[in-house]
Amino acid sequence: MSNKKLSTKALHSGHEVDLTQGTRAVPIYQSTSYVFNDSAHAANLFALSEPGYIYTRLNNPTNDILEKRLADIEGGIGAVVTTSGASAISTALLVLLKAGDHIVASNSLYGGTFNLLNVTLPRFGIKTTFVDPSDPVNFSDAVQENTRVFFVESLGNPKLDVLDLKEISNYAKKFKVPLMVDNTVATPALLNPIDYGANIVIHSLTKYINGNGTVLGGAIIDAGTFDWSNGKFPEFTEPSPGYHGLVYHDALGPAAFIAKVRIEGLRDLGGAISPFNSFQIIQGLETLDIRMKKHSSNALELAKWLEKKPEVEWVNYPGLESSDYYNLSKKYLKKGQSGLITFGIKGGFDSAKTIADNTKLFSLLANIGDTKSLIIHPASTTHQQLSSEDQESTGVSSDLIRLSVGLEDIKDLKDDLELAFSKIDKKVLV
Ligand SMILES: *Cc1c(COP(=O)(O)O)cnc(C)c1O
Repeated sequence: MSNKKLSTKALHSGHEVDLTQGTRAVPIYQSTSYVFNDSAHAANLFALSEPGYIYTRLNNPTNDILEKRLADIEGGIGAVVTTSGASAISTALLVLLKAGDHIVASNSLYGGTFNLLNVTLPRFGIKTTFVDPSDPVNFSDAVQENTRVFFVESLGNPKLDVLDLKEISNYAKKFKVPLMVDNTVATPALLNPIDYGANIVIHSLTKYINGNGTVLGGAIIDAGTFDWSNGKFPEFTEPSPGYHGLVYHDALGPAAFIAKVRIEGLRDLGGAISPFNSFQIIQGLETLDIRMKKHSSNALELAKWLEKKPEVEWVNYPGLESSDYYNLSKKYLKKGQSGLITFGIKGGFDSAKTIADNTKLFSLLANIGDTKSLIIHPASTTHQQLSSEDQESTGVSSDLIRLSVGLEDIKDLKDDLELAFSKIDKKVLV
């Protein structure tokens, strides 16, 4: 399907109906294990000399279709799906890195990822330098002799900063390290990081790709463009004690990384997704293209409307001309700027909390990318344990409200916010 367009791939890639009894929908293969023809067949499967299914922690026909579809849509050569976005990130990094290695990461990251890099991985001897990604040279300046990966979000959550992926990937190439890009907020419907030099793409499938807020999932997609034999990654060029002496680079060539993610990452770390969840994600993926257009157009219209409201202090949406990232979004997010908006409200913490407590269509919860509109006031909820200095440094000011704009009619969404605005203390407006 590689010559087809996104909306076509999202419906067809990876599914050969002849292999599924002609079923038009992708079936759920709810089985933990697969019968071998005989012991020699089993031996061949384990030796990777013959393709086939062994055990659902390693591979599964439903998961396989989702993997092929995601790889095709992102322009990669292979993918592995996992239980959640967080497990996709931890599995990818743990397969790639070892104690003593170093990461250069954007400082504008999803909270869970920030904690993984800042607290959990250092316990295993893997340290991260966080840099301001708005100037790509900061990545170069932070490189050490033991740096082994750059990690960024293409459209940062919750800062909504658009990164100059091309420039950052040029530095990654210069220092011979792979660029890993979390593309969850932009989605492949709006941006393909591989086109700009990303080597590995990560997704939380929980968000826009599934879109219905029903299941968790994650994906690791390999562009197949990184040279693992450049001297910095002996785990790929020397016999692997974890897989009876397999030399990944020699045996698997450009697919060395994604193969290691499956045969060592899924096998040893265990983050395999349920085929039922993959099935649900496939239903969502089928309509990703049209949904992202609508999420983006609804968000742009709402952001422009918010900019005109007397109650609103500031609005941050990369599609607004007032945004610091407007020029980068013209280059990287031409098809739309996704569905997240942050804005600040007059009256600070109290007004913001009042609004989050008084919407009816916007649900107060900690998720993004649902078909239904969502709202959160981080300072009184997800970030309330942080000191006010730490809140500011993570970009979460006390007046900040984050919207994940859904697919409802835009008039109803405006009316819903208008009603919530009417509840704030009018004294703050004068
Ligand atoms: C939600 C999210 C994650 C984590 O994904 P889960 O599926 O919740 O584990 C990672 N990155 C970004 C940008 C996210 O928004």
